[in-house]
Amino acid sequence: MKNIAILGSTGSIGTQALEVVRQFPDLFQVEVLTAHSNADLLIRQAKEFQPNVVVIGKESEYEYVKSALWDDDVKVYAGADALNDVARMDCVDVVLSAIVGVAGLAPVYRAIEMGKQIALANKETLVVAGELMTKAAAANGAILYPVDSEHSAIFQSMVGEFQNPIHKIIITASGGPFRGKKRSELQNVTKEQALKHPNWTMGSKITIDSATLMNKGLEVIEAKWLFNVSLDKIQVLVHPQSVVHSMVEYADGAVKAQLGVPDMKLPIQYALTYPDRLPNNFPRLNFADYPNLTFEEPDREVFPCLDLAFAASNEGGCKPCVMNAANEAAVSLFLHDRIGFYDIPRLIEQSMARANYSAPTSVEEYLYIDNEIKTSILQSFNK
Ligand code: NDP
Ligand code: MG
Repeated sequence: MKNIAILGSTGSIGTQALEVVRQFPDLFQVEVLTAHSNADLLIRQAKEFQPNVVVIGKESEYEYVKSALWDDDVKVYAGADALNDVARMDCVDVVLSAIVGVAGLAPVYRAIEMGKQIALANKETLVVAGELMTKAAAANGAILYPVDSEHSAIFQSMVGEFQNPIHKIIITASGGPFRGKKRSELQNVTKEQALKHPNWTMGSKITIDSATLMNKGLEVIEAKWLFNVSLDKIQVLVHPQSVVHSMVEYADGAVKAQLGVPDMKLPIQYALTYPDRLPNNFPRLNFADYPNLTFEEPDREVFPCLDLAFAASNEGGCKPCVMNAANEAAVSLFLHDRIGFYDIPRLIEQSMARANYSAPTSVEEYLYIDNEIKTSILQSFNK
């Protein structure tokens, strides 16, 4: 039996993780569930899974959640500090981090300090503070299992090869809803158009990141830290069918890949049951449904966010944190119809050019920079 904490249980990954847990009632005990503001779903999940603890981020929802669960044996906490506390709890073996954005940074770090197993969906954690996180994981015996489908595919392609160095990683990208478009066609796209992802149903932030290709930039940085490879060994290829989830090339030229339907439940399950492969009733791949699997280079001129991510990671220091913060702020503004599609890369580039912080060395320093960048962007639009 594994005791599991699901941080962000009300989101796209969180709810799919609970579907995985439902398949294996003898394998997982849910100890912790957390949400930011979706109190009603958190309450329903708590009634079904009877965790030890739930956390609602928004403190104004505390009384509501507490009274709804008054006759259940579930402790209720609220606020960001409570998230850090539950990530450290002794009764938790595995922390699945499915929080979106930099809010995941501190709780993941706390779990790493306690040497927990971590199933990591929250890619922003490694993008912002990859060096800090991976060093702390090595020092504390914490293991990071990828949940992101590309990184799960890379990890699955490495099983049995751990003594062989990676020659190249090929990360596939669907290309998002705007694949094949020209820059001029995307100047005035709306959030509704950007939210129509061709293959995946996900939270709104990552869906916009997929439309700008920033998601692929974030994933390149995530891969660099997870698999300890330099950026020049990571190639991005657009693969619109989202069946080949990513690939690893070895010294002899052999390329290994993991394939499957676009469904996050398999990578979530693998992160929780590694090294075992357990039977489930999730959708399966039928090759006859996919007579054409195609691959093409990404259009880096139409989707400048990809190169901004490479540049931020190459520069290192504060730059990936600045890039991520500017992206989170810009995506939020775009989702509120406050800016246009190409204002997203413009704001990121501007923030990266201006920022001149010394390299952060702690979670607090990263969060300070994150807050400064977001505040300055949001204030400039509230004038
Ligand atoms: P969602 O927006 O669907 O869910 C986010 C979850 O985090 C919700 O439970 C939300 O609570 C909670 N949350 C939001 N803001 C905060 C905060 N400030 N503090 C604490 N909790 C918060 O996101 P996704 O599930 O799509 O994505 C989660 C992470 O997984 C992201 O990092 C994303 O990049 C990554 N990922 C997602 C994939 C997908 O298919 N969705 C695929 C690969 C990676 P509430 O519901 O109450 O707002
Ligand atoms: Mg992905």
